[in-house]
Amino acid sequence: MPESAVIIEACAECQQDLEHCHGTAILHVDGAADCSDDPDCRLTAELHRFVIFCAELDRCCDAAGAAPELAAEQAAAS
Ligand SMILES: [Zn+2]
Ligand SMILES: [Zn+2]
Ligand SMILES: [Zn+2]
Repeated sequence: MPESAVIIEACAECQQDLEHCHGTAILHVDGAADCSDDPDCRLTAELHRFVIFCAELDRCCDAAGAAPELAAEQAAAS
């Protein structure tokens, strides 16, 4: 089998054996990052292939302050 038949889609970091993560980092307003794929992942957000800001998520850091409608709903429900 010719070597060219084997196509490995390794990213640049994989090829260079660098520490990185293929998961998605959730970047919080305080600068902390969570890995959505691996709970044990401690890499910083920039070492991830994908980064999303937690403000884009419904229930994260911003939820209490930035979603007054949601807070009102919860207050009415209780
Ligand atoms: Zn990689
Ligand atoms: Zn990760
Ligand atoms: Zn957050």
